Amino acid sequence: MEPSLLDQLPRAPVTRFAPSPTGELHLGHVANAVWTWGVARAAGGTVLFRIEDHDRGRSRPQHEAQILADLAWLGLEPDGESRSLLTPGGPSPWRQSDCDADYRRAISDLRRATTVYGCSCSRARIARDTDMGQQAPGQEIRYPGSCRERGLPLGAPGVGTRAVLPDDAVAFADLRLGTQLQRPAHQSGDLMLRDAVGNWTYQFAVTVDDLRHGVTLVVRGEDLLESTGRQILLGQLLGREAPATFLHHPLIMGDSGAKLSKRDGAVSLRSLRQGGATPTQVLREAAERTQFPVELGWF
Ligand code: GLU
Repeated sequence: MEPSLLDQLPRAPVTRFAPSPTGELHLGHVANAVWTWGVARAAGGTVLFRIEDHDRGRSRPQHEAQILADLAWLGLEPDGESRSLLTPGGPSPWRQSDCDADYRRAISDLRRATTVYGCSCSRARIARDTDMGQQAPGQEIRYPGSCRERGLPLGAPGVGTRAVLPDDAVAFADLRLGTQLQRPAHQSGDLMLRDAVGNWTYQFAVTVDDLRHGVTLVVRGEDLLESTGRQILLGQLLGREAPATFLHHPLIMGDSGAKLSKRDGAVSLRSLRQGGATPTQVLREAAERTQFPVELGWF
């Protein structure tokens, strides 16, 4: 008999809910919250809360405020120090835009472990330098390393930052999907840490944060599965002793057959609530549409 998810859960894991305030929360985010709180509570663990506003151009304080209101309405409470984010005002170690010093320190650490270099390639340039004929449609473009030897100054205007990843295969066990084997250096090539306009990238910021926040279990949607190997490698380069455990849950699909998104007409939590839905109805629908295991007993 297959071991149940409950049997496989690490004891007292530290997990996190980490939305990006680039829009309003919708049912897809609720599904992630259900899995995160559901798994943490079933395993006697904690849920940390983090605002992932690394993309300064797309993040808005009013979306952060709405996320706080939505969580309160759903009755979902984060734990520990991260609760301080619930009280608005002032910089916080739980909001990425306030943590520049942590990311700069991590870049220094990384430079002791691998080559970190400046990159001025545009998307068009990368597409030109890559043999696009070899790419399957939708396949990630592997950065061909065009700027590796150019010696561009880190942090100069129009210059992004990349790190060379070791050409190692990474194996990890996803608690739902089983053993995964990835080879990040072949998927993405040298990893972007900071873009040319100065935003820390998702891959870099999330790896630094999961390490400094002591996260031991990452619960997130299947759309991020391909990111996991590179985050494990980056974490190792940053001195992480043991990688987190991962659980990638099913996504709620929209009518177009793709992941539910605003473009797909996803209805915001705010409007569901204004339309008369109760928190329990919304949580249940998100749980059912992503096959949240009843054995975890959260509902
Ligand atoms: N900030 C990401 C999002 O809102 C979550 C990333 C993660 O869980 O690793 O999709």
